[in-house]
Amino acid sequence: MKANFDYRKESIQDILFIDVKSFYATVECVSRNLDPLTTLLVVMSNEDNTGNGLILAASPAAKKKLGITNVTRADNLPDNPNLIKVPPRMSLYIQENMRFNAIFQQYVSDEDLLPYSIDESILDVSHSLNLFYSNKSESRYMKRMRLAHHIQNEVKEKLGLILSIGI
Ligand SMILES: [Mg+2]
Repeated sequence: MKANFDYRKESIQDILFIDVKSFYATVECVSRNLDPLTTLLVVMSNEDNTGNGLILAASPAAKKKLGITNVTRADNLPDNPNLIKVPPRMSLYIQENMRFNAIFQQYVSDEDLLPYSIDESILDVSHSLNLFYSNKSESRYMKRMRLAHHIQNEVKEKLGLILSIGI
């Protein structure tokens, strides 16, 4: 049997899927006044460094320069004197999660914000676009891009966190 859907009649929604890059590691860098893009830092589940811990997060620089991934075991960490190893601070990450979601709430109503995980949120900006960008000659696509960039910049400026946004 052939499905008989007319997709042109589906309503259009503008969804931003937002993910904080290297969330735990970036929060740890920012709280130490270190640049997450140049600092070699890993968040390790085992504070005493017995070698049995798991890497929960690595800063972008640690991923890039040392090839560390989130599945690296602590005992496989490269021997680099500049590599900073820190224990996780979940309450701090939850606090930062509330701060970035509070910024998102400035752009969507509560029912259009879905916090998805500790570092991911989904925003339905369908109703927000015309509110923030009233220029009628500007396409919906452009407005989405502009709003995404705007949110990215604000979070970077206020919290030091870097967002990837899928539109
Ligand atoms: Mg992430």
